[in-house]
Amino acid sequence: ALVVGRRVKSRKKWNRVVGVLKELEESCETTVGRLRQVVDAMAVEMHAGLASEGGSKLKMLLTFVDNLPSGSEKGIFYALDLGGTNFRVLRVELGGQRSDLDPDVEQQPIPEQLMTGRSEDLFDFIASSLYQFVEKANDSVQSPVTKELGFTFSFPVKQTSVSSGVLIKWTKAFAIEDMVGKEVAGALQQALARKGLNMRVAVLVNDTVGTLALGHYHDEDTVAAVIIGTGTNACYWERTDAIIKCQGLLTTSGSMVVNMEWGNFWSSHLPRTAYDIELDAESPNPNDQGFEKMISGMYLGDIVRRVILRMSEESDIFGPVSSRLYMPFALRTPAMAAMHEDDSPELIEVARILKDVLDIPDVPLKVRKLVVKICDVVTCRAARLAAAGIVGILKKIGRDGSGGITGGRSRSDVKMRRTAVAVEGSLYTQYTMFREYLHEALHEILGEDIARHVVINVTEDGSGTGAALLAASHSSSSSGSVD
Ligand code: BGC
Ligand code: MG
Repeated sequence: ALVVGRRVKSRKKWNRVVGVLKELEESCETTVGRLRQVVDAMAVEMHAGLASEGGSKLKMLLTFVDNLPSGSEKGIFYALDLGGTNFRVLRVELGGQRSDLDPDVEQQPIPEQLMTGRSEDLFDFIASSLYQFVEKANDSVQSPVTKELGFTFSFPVKQTSVSSGVLIKWTKAFAIEDMVGKEVAGALQQALARKGLNMRVAVLVNDTVGTLALGHYHDEDTVAAVIIGTGTNACYWERTDAIIKCQGLLTTSGSMVVNMEWGNFWSSHLPRTAYDIELDAESPNPNDQGFEKMISGMYLGDIVRRVILRMSEESDIFGPVSSRLYMPFALRTPAMAAMHEDDSPELIEVARILKDVLDIPDVPLKVRKLVVKICDVVTCRAARLAAAGIVGILKKIGRDGSGGITGGRSRSDVKMRRTAVAVEGSLYTQYTMFREYLHEALHEILGEDIARHVVINVTEDGSGTGAALLAASHSSSSSGSVD
């Protein structure tokens, strides 16, 4: 009788866990119908953000980038890419002809204490790294010839020109209070001067803008760029007369790149769970970056941690509740991806990560499978929402086959032009399941006939290399001089 009783009890517990999973699946549901609502909401918010300052949670920021690299750029240019988990310095030699760029790149993790300390310390650290990099490249650091630098700064910036702007707010893991509202390129320029490095910040760009520049360099049909890494965002090529909040904006191309800051997008159509609400409330930036918190690498692992914690509290399938489960960000997205993509029959990698990372040893196969399922639900939602965001942009610029948001033409009489989107970021490039779910959703939303014309191009180090290209087209020696 004792044995039977135990079995009944454990079945009840298992049912509770299954209930939690079911609830998660339902609240994360992204049917194609719902995704289309997100597409529409994105396009509508883009219009609102372009219509007036503060008109939408989408900031739709001006970049002052009004032409994209053509291939004729020539010379040696540097770039500095700051904004996610890693920090990169690059040097690229441009020969005046389109070619496979092969930049020298050095990368290092940003010391965590610098993300939340004083701005001077962060910029001194960056300037030192750059100094050493220039020295190593054997370009004289004090040469009287000013070196030109593209500065990729992956946070919302209110630009005042292509080479200047102030930080609106921090996102991701950064929180350096004294920097908010300050001139970003100026802070770097001063640190370079302190170091005695003769270099000029020729352009200050968002990482999406760098990615668009490199994407366009390799494929002229590129009209938008998306980053899905630690954070997420997109930019695209917009006609200046559509940027209503900035009347009289004149550019020679008649267009300008707009940095959407889509991480802050919000809509009631987004499938939100109790875990998202908790995560947001406990984050350093509550009510901000709602879309980003459902999609990007900084957060996905933490959503999964919260689900496992809940299940562990409701039952004993994970043994006694591990104290690691209470630690914010204890489960990082790369570890989550590794569990999700574990293809060993016994799910050995899942067992190892549960034990090593979350201090949960010895869970049976059935429970490991459950963990994989949680990862799957969370990643699938993220990837599908990112796909809806991309289609939202295509819709705004009339490249989704529907003839634009107000267009009445039917699908059949629109001749769809080839349209390329440049994508970068570890989630997309390193996480196969994420990438596959994103592509699948693009096809579902657009339909095969339209999706055939939409190309996703992966750029490598585009955010940095693209900034170097833009530095070249905006260098003091080029006709596009900004001085
Ligand atoms: C930032 C964006 C950036 C994106 C990807 C977001 O958190 O607000 O400016 O482009 O992350 O790095
Ligand atoms: Mg980056």
